[in-house]
Parts: sequence; structure tokens; C-alpha cells
Amino acid sequence: MSDQHSRTFDAVVIGAGFAGLYALYKLRKMGLSVKVFEAGNGVGGTWYWNRYPGARCDVESMEYSYSFDPELEQEWIWPDKYSKQADILKYANHVAERFNLMKDIEFETRIKSAFYERESNTWRIKTAKGRKVVAQFCVMAVGNLSTPRVPDFKGIDNFKGDWYHSGLWPKEEVNFSGKRVGIIGTGSTAIQIIPQVAKKAKHLHIFQRTANYSLPARNGPLAEEKRAIHKKKYRELRKQAYSTPFGIAGYPPPEKGAFEATPKEREAKYHQKWDEGGTISYLFSYNDLLLSEKSNETASDFVRERIREIVKDPETAELLCPNDHPIGTKRICLDSGYYETFNRYNVALVDVRSAPIEEITPFGLRTAREEFELDSIIFATGFDAMTGAILEMNIRTSDGLDMKDKWKDGPKTYLGIMIAGFPNMFVITGPGSPGVKSQMILSIEQHTDWITGCIANMLVNGITRAEAELEAEAKWTEHVNEVANSTLYPQANSWYVGANIPGKPRIFMPYVGGVEAYKKICDEVVAKGYEGIQLAP
Ligand code: NAP
Repeated sequence: MSDQHSRTFDAVVIGAGFAGLYALYKLRKMGLSVKVFEAGNGVGGTWYWNRYPGARCDVESMEYSYSFDPELEQEWIWPDKYSKQADILKYANHVAERFNLMKDIEFETRIKSAFYERESNTWRIKTAKGRKVVAQFCVMAVGNLSTPRVPDFKGIDNFKGDWYHSGLWPKEEVNFSGKRVGIIGTGSTAIQIIPQVAKKAKHLHIFQRTANYSLPARNGPLAEEKRAIHKKKYRELRKQAYSTPFGIAGYPPPEKGAFEATPKEREAKYHQKWDEGGTISYLFSYNDLLLSEKSNETASDFVRERIREIVKDPETAELLCPNDHPIGTKRICLDSGYYETFNRYNVALVDVRSAPIEEITPFGLRTAREEFELDSIIFATGFDAMTGAILEMNIRTSDGLDMKDKWKDGPKTYLGIMIAGFPNMFVITGPGSPGVKSQMILSIEQHTDWITGCIANMLVNGITRAEAELEAEAKWTEHVNEVANSTLYPQANSWYVGANIPGKPRIFMPYVGGVEAYKKICDEVVAKGYEGIQLAP
């Protein structure tokens, strides 16, 4: 089934976000010919698409950056403690230009299908424009939160105003001045958008189904002195980050459980963390907050008390208090003035749990209780997380396997990196890896180093095919679930379990054993001669 019209590369990388850029850099450095395909017309992935007002990273800038090049680390200047989207995008572009990566990236090119042909041991990749390429290796750098999802509301096509999804935000600034705006959703994204849009809109209606925990970021400019100290200790800090659960240095894991402290001590600790800002710091108040419901309740209660203190209208405050999941079992949101926004005269919270949205009307929306007139609607309704981008493509093999069938009951991977039956395909921070539960760029580097190490080993030893074993994959998938079930995580209806997508199988997808444990396992697999992977000459 060879195709004379296809160009051949050693490796094809799908996606030019932080994962795709680093994969290109590393694979090319090994002397391979590489082609990257990217749906957007620029690099940056998440930070390319999510240009909504208020978009910022919830990991501190000095950590949320590449570590592979000390010169890059030293020359780049992060202005804020938590970077805004535009600065992160600027950084992604800087990296792409500095390492001359652009020339191997084809933009505005979505991949439609990838077919593995065993006989020729090649991946045959087809773009949505109909172009075909052939490669020995296929690297999925497609991101975990890259398939935006607008719920299937009745009437959406009839809406006469403007509507936006946060993950597909226009490049031009959207002017909400004087408009009646509605935002659907109160996740991490909405919590960043709401304070910004409230300042501009004539009126902002916030349609909330489930309340989330949000902590103050206490963001601000990064003091030169702090930046300099961090840069001086970069090597040590990067190393330290690998020995933590979330891959973030500077926050040593706590040694004490919540009930080893007196109520007064606990209150003082939570206050100190709340005043300091940030999510890791708060979660690291005690070592059992994600393991014991009773301990978690103390941390959850503290946040609910702060909400009641900040939000003046008691009814609104009560609605904003999360009560369906322990704090931390969904990604904690990080905000700048979120709860305070509900004290504004032009903002109203609408509970769509008790009265769901029934229809988008030509002039707004209607819930089971009321009708709202809106000029603009913002859908901050999330993503088909972790599996969406992979399953959107048609991925099949000459052995008759189809990824959609393989993952119909939930994703199965070996280490979150390889998939049995799909040889020479590697996923960066895939389901079953700690990617989304970590400092993402650190995990991207660790995965990519592991993948390129595997490919280098193949090249040196004359191996042409690497394929995860079914048994190793089954064991790993079971382990991922076992670890999750030993924590409180599965209690939440989060995108970690696919709960936000109607009909998606409920499986806990990320590995929550922590970055340190995970890296150790990955290294051991290598030390044991790529245990669990069949290597064929
Ligand atoms: P999300 O956490 O999935 O939140 C989606 C929101 O939309 C939820 O409040 C959800 O309510 C609501 N929603 C969905 N369908 C609805 C419907 N039919 N009716 C009413 N409400 C509906 O998505 P996200 O806020 O975009 O965040 C996703 C992830 O992206 C985060 O967890 C985080 O990992 C990442 N992120 C990070 C940052 C950062 O670094 N600062 C910023 C933004 C996002 P339910 O909860 O009831 O389903």
C-alpha cells in the first residue's frame, strides 16, 4: 500500500504546543528528519488558542518554563509571578525562533487520520487538506485540553448575538463594553474571565451549575531580586522539582496530617496559605488533604468561610460555596478578584443546577425558571479532556485495530506514553501519565526525553519497531486506577474522569502517584531493557 505521492520523514509530530516544540527540537538534534503539523497558525498550543480576557497560568512563571537550555533560562525575563497568556505565547515564539523550529512546522494543518502499516512499519498520516506523509515514528503532542466543547444546547444556531468558546478565542480583542453578557460555566477558565468582563460589560450574568473552590493568586510583578535568586539556583531547583509530587520546586511536601495540629494551628496555617496565594501551597498545608475526607473538610470549610466573608449577599455566597467535592479533587482554581466580583452592581449569579439551561434563544437564553436577554454569550464550558484530541483523529492499523474501539471503555496506555497495538506511536503526557497533575512543561520534557531515549536506543541497536505489550498496558492502567482509588480524587465529577462529557466512560485518567514516583517507574522500565515493550529488529 505504498504511496508514491507521500513525503517520507523519520518522525511526524502532531501539535506545536510546548510538547511539539520540544519533541521537534530533540528529534532533530538526534539527526532525524521531522515534520510537525499544527492546526493553528502559530506555535503555543493551549496558549495560542486560549486568548480569553484574564487568561493566566496557575503555576509560577519561573517554574512554568523549559529547563533544557540553561542559556534560555537565563536570558528570558518573566515579568509577573503568574504569567499572562500573551507572555507565555511570546515565550513559545521566542523558543521556536531561537532554535530555528518554525521551518519544520506546517501550520493551519489538522491531521485527519494516522494509519499504521505493519508490513512497511510506517505511519501513513493524512491531513484534513488531503496531503499525505509517511513516517516511522508518530509523536502525539496534541495536548490534554485542546478539544473545546460547547454543550449541545437547543437553539444555539439561532442566537442573534455573538458567542465565544474560551478555548477558541478570537485574536482580535472582543469589546464587551456596554453589552449584556452571559457566561456559562464556573471552572478555572470562567473564574479568570469573570472579573475582567465584569469591568466592561453593562451586565454580566454568570450561569453556574457547580461551584468550584478558588484561591487567590496574589499575583503581581516579579521582583528583580527574586528572579535573580531563582536564576542562580535554577539547576538545583529543576532537580528538586522532579522529587516532588506535582513537579514544582519550592514547596516541600508537608510531613504532618491535618489532625496532628490543633484547630487553632490549622486555622493559622490555612490563613497563612490563603494570604500567601497559590494552590500548591494551600494543598500542601497537610499531607492527608487528598487522602482523608475528615482532614480535607477542614481545608474545604476554611475556603467556604472566606467566600461567606467576601461575598456580601448571603444567598449568592451560599451558592458559590462548593459542596459536592472535597477541595483539590478537581483542579483548584486560581483567581484575581473572583469572589469580590459578585459584590458588583452589574453582576448576577444564576443557579442552573436547580433550573438548567433549556434553550439558547435568538436574544439570549432560557432556563427552566427564567429568560435572560443577552448580547453575547461566553461558553467557558471546558474540553473533551485527555482523550478528545486523539480520538478526533481516525487512528487505525493494518492489523484491524481502531483507536476508537480500543478506548471505547476509557483510555488504555502503557505509562501514558505508548499504546499496545499501535507501534512506534508515542504520546506526550497522555492519559495514564501525571501530565495534567503536574507542572506541565516539566512532564513534557520528562516524557519527551524518555521517548527520544527510546528511539535513540532503537537506532543504536538496529530495532525498528517498539510496541507496548498488552499485559504491561493492562497492568499499568490498573495501577493508575488503583492509585487514584487510594485517594479522594475519584469522588469529584471532574474532567479527570470524563464526567463533563455526556456518555464518556467514567475512568480516572491521570496518574496521581506523583511526578517523582512516575519518573522512577519510567527510569526503571529503561534500566530493565524497556520492560513491557516489544522491540523488534
Ligand atoms: P471546566 O473545568 O471543565 O469547567 C467547565 C464549566 O462549564 C463547569 O463549571 C461546568 O459545570 C460548566 N458547564 C459545562 N456544561 C454545562 C452545561 N450544559 N450547563 C451549565 N454549565 C455547564 O473547564 P475550564 O474552566 O475551561 O478548565 C479546564 C481545565 O483547564 C482546568 O481544570 C485547568 O486544568 C485548565 N485551566 C488552567 C488555567 C490556568 O492555568 N490558570 C486556566 C483555565 C483552565 P459542571 O462543573 O457542573 O460540569
